[in-house]
Amino acid sequence: MNWKRTIGLDNLSEEYAFARDESTGYTSAKKIPDHWVPTTCGYCSVGCGIEIGVKDGRAIASRPFESHPVNRGKLCPKGLSEHYTIHADNRAKYPMLRKSGKLVRVGWDEALDVMVERFRATQAKYGAESLGVLSTGQLVTEEFYTLGKLVQLGFGTNNYDGNTTLCMASAVSGYKISFGSDGPPGAYEDMQHADVVLLIGANLADNHPILCQYLEANRNKTLIVADPRVSKTAMMADIHLPLNPRSDLALLNGIAHILIRYNLVDREYIDKHTAGFAELERFLDAYPPERVAEITGISEETIFKTALLYGRAKAGFIGWTMGVNHSTLGTATVNAICNLALLTGHIGRAGASPFSITGQCNAMGTREAGFASSLPGYRKFDNAEDRAGLAAIWKVDESRLPSKRGLAYPDIVEAAVAKKIRALWIIATNPLVSYPNQDVLGHGLSNLDFLVVQDGYHPTPTTELADLVLPAAIWGEKEGTYTNSERRVSKVNQAVLPQGEARSDFDIFLSVAERLGCRDELYPGWTTVEDAFNEWRRVSKGRLCDYSGISYELLAEHGAVQWPLAEGADPNVTSRLYSDGQFQTSDGRGKLVCTDWAPFPEQPNRSYPFVLNTGRTVEHWHTRTKTREVPILERLSPRAWLEMNPRDAKGLGLRSHDSVDVVSRRGRVRAVELRLTEITAPGQVFMPFHFAETNVNEVTQDAFDPISREPNYKQCAVRVERSGVNT
Ligand code: SF4
Repeated sequence: MNWKRTIGLDNLSEEYAFARDESTGYTSAKKIPDHWVPTTCGYCSVGCGIEIGVKDGRAIASRPFESHPVNRGKLCPKGLSEHYTIHADNRAKYPMLRKSGKLVRVGWDEALDVMVERFRATQAKYGAESLGVLSTGQLVTEEFYTLGKLVQLGFGTNNYDGNTTLCMASAVSGYKISFGSDGPPGAYEDMQHADVVLLIGANLADNHPILCQYLEANRNKTLIVADPRVSKTAMMADIHLPLNPRSDLALLNGIAHILIRYNLVDREYIDKHTAGFAELERFLDAYPPERVAEITGISEETIFKTALLYGRAKAGFIGWTMGVNHSTLGTATVNAICNLALLTGHIGRAGASPFSITGQCNAMGTREAGFASSLPGYRKFDNAEDRAGLAAIWKVDESRLPSKRGLAYPDIVEAAVAKKIRALWIIATNPLVSYPNQDVLGHGLSNLDFLVVQDGYHPTPTTELADLVLPAAIWGEKEGTYTNSERRVSKVNQAVLPQGEARSDFDIFLSVAERLGCRDELYPGWTTVEDAFNEWRRVSKGRLCDYSGISYELLAEHGAVQWPLAEGADPNVTSRLYSDGQFQTSDGRGKLVCTDWAPFPEQPNRSYPFVLNTGRTVEHWHTRTKTREVPILERLSPRAWLEMNPRDAKGLGLRSHDSVDVVSRRGRVRAVELRLTEITAPGQVFMPFHFAETNVNEVTQDAFDPISREPNYKQCAVRVERSGVNT
């Protein structure tokens, strides 16, 4: 209690004092820092430049990094309040080891000794592959690169994947099949140059808000948004296509059918740069407009109009995010998008790109430098030349590199259920909120002999289950680089010291390597993240994701630059992949892929009559570990809700703000606030996935794309009941 305030001696003058700041004018004195540290936003893959204001060793403010090429002086609500995430109450500050059933504080030496000893013992007993690692899209690229070497060459297991498989694995797989390699071909400014922008399953206004300024700057475009909901982005559209859930693949095939039938394709481009046209043409006979209209619920006239607009565009841009990826048909849908670009030659030019917009701030970094979906530098596991080249750079025997991918995220969980994975290292992710069908995950984790969770926050639902918690430094406390959705590499800088005894993930990995006895071999002479970056530059040299021309000095000078950037190349030029029509496939041609549509796996019925869609809201980030600690964001969006169309609510006798349960075959989410809105069509309901307290993943389905292994988060069958009626 403030006793001075109580007796009237304290008028809170310090609290409310203001002073003059050189850039903002009169400002709360508490918000005027001693200095600003330039860095990159640590939330989403847009990759905005941001400055952290530091006063007395604490992060006290955030503001846009004015000259950064991505955000042009703007930030979204999360970026503007990001400094709150550093000094949050739920930061992990000390290593915690479970003893006699309780997590107790221990020193780093004991924590790391126990970790390495238990992992080694498990591997000795059950085989090297009994250790699994689940990583993230939140570390810096240098850490992903270091971790990949540690897991594969140090621990000798390739059962290593990241939570990135939960958000953009289908984009990766689709690009690989269509173009021969991962790597988004375009750039953000393509949204500004295109005359037609088609967004599919991409609610940029909530999820990548700063990208909307690229759309707004383009006054001449036609914006088409395909989304079952009237999302905020759909509200910006010239044409909204409110298609039936998971009918996007049929729509894309239908558009391709019309393009070919009405000769709106680029024959010259197809002949010179693609393979598989004749087969695709025959296959698309099965997607006439009348059938596509029936599947999608979009009129034939509108499908024609969309196809004509895209086919006749000088430069057509297709952007997508999780609405496409979160599906058992995610990879096929990405291929269907790439088909449209290849058929029309809308690729590799200003404004023309099939462009996946990624999720996390450095999901791209792990795709490029990690070991999960490919070997570093987009090298293929099954390509002997790729393996030999990498082994030569590292001066290790080629046999130590895996010739095939290890288990993907859901398969690691299944292997834990089957007791094949016996020890697990989870890094900077919170699957106890984010994984679909929590029941299966809970079973898998309870089977483990040893669970290590390395995170910047504790407690989280996942750290609470751990045998060992390693406290990690987070954004603002460490250095490195992030790569955003347009392949732009941006510097991440340390503004303040890590909280408590937390250490950077990079330091933790090197310390683990030390105990494994492989530090000198794998990381010779490394002391800083820049050492890792410089080796990564050599490893990526000559590859599609060539970083060899990028240095920390160059990043400091330019704010952020795109890859590929070979040594001596001009960093100011906007780069696009495949501008020469040469793809990374064995014959250099883009592959036209026949991609058949099928209904989503769990259709509604009498018992479960609604299709549940899940997604995000602008105020929160993923499992809310960080954003629930940011007062303004938490006040704006403190709890989950369920969107339902008023017609459905009337049929159920429900009213706005009623408390309802959402029930599927797998579980029940209790006491969710009902919101009635025409944003969601009859027969569908929508719920955000950020909230551990009312976790929608209690009811989502653990069905996965057979190629990418990405979960089908977007559609499952549920019923909605007034809370308390059936418990
Ligand atoms: S749009 Fe993304 S990168 Fe930019 S400020 Fe917001 S969360 Fe950060």
